[in-house]
Amino acid sequence: MIIKNPKKSLGQNFLTDKNIIDIIVRNGCINEKDVVLEIGPGTGSLTERILSLKPLKLFAIEKDKTLIMKLNEKFKDKINLINEDILKVDEKVFCKEPMIVFGNLPYNISTQILVKWIRLNNLNKNFKKFILMFQKEVAERIIATTNNKKYGRLSILASWKMNVKKVLEVSPKSFYPVPKVKSTVLLMEPKKDFFPIKNPKNLEHITNVFFNQRRKMVKHPLKILFKNSEKISKKLNININDRPQNLSPLKYLELCKEYENLTF
Ligand code: SAH
Repeated sequence: MIIKNPKKSLGQNFLTDKNIIDIIVRNGCINEKDVVLEIGPGTGSLTERILSLKPLKLFAIEKDKTLIMKLNEKFKDKINLINEDILKVDEKVFCKEPMIVFGNLPYNISTQILVKWIRLNNLNKNFKKFILMFQKEVAERIIATTNNKKYGRLSILASWKMNVKKVLEVSPKSFYPVPKVKSTVLLMEPKKDFFPIKNPKNLEHITNVFFNQRRKMVKHPLKILFKNSEKISKKLNININDRPQNLSPLKYLELCKEYENLTF
């Protein structure tokens, strides 16, 4: 499929490298009983490879109407095309079974898409796994662990609900048009058991407060969040002279629980 004017605003960088497409799709381990969801099928290069493995059903959400028309012509009734914005759809409405999700995501909204899924109560019931392409720097932030300078809000949110593994790095040359940035594919599997909190937005808020002042000692954000900050830091065994990057994801979840006990 040839696209004359790829839309920058929709993050259109289409994958053209067959080897990369093959590795991405193989990481899904699709069988005939699987329901697959593709985000932003674009020109359909991943789509075609996914279909060759004959999943039970393939849904694809694409915002661009022009592409929807072309994809319809190309794949006819082999796929279920949904002309929507991924940030606005509720996947449960069209599919109740756990899905395998693929997406060479539009980079300008990739973290919003990820956070949208992490907020879901039934993440592990709605989704089997995610194989997603991110801008390399964003992927590094997602997989970063404690004490790493890239560790932060995204790493904490992702590790709360998902097991994350790096699949491979992808050169800009594997896309058309060639993007300015390198890319990384991640495999994410929703955890069955995860630390219970009342509302993910509280964890987002807490990590925002801490990492907005990444270089300051944690006593400052603690004071912003808690009137009784000294008692909280003692109870949770937090060294108030540490920096935000020194606290484990579990500490942030424990802090979130304290915060929720206080406010709700
Ligand atoms: N998966 C394709 C295309 C990747 S480019 C490939 O690898 O070749 C990103 C795709 O996401 C484009 O097709 C773009 O139109 C689509 N897109 C951008 N924003 C979107 C949104 N909010 N919801 C759904 N699709 C979107």
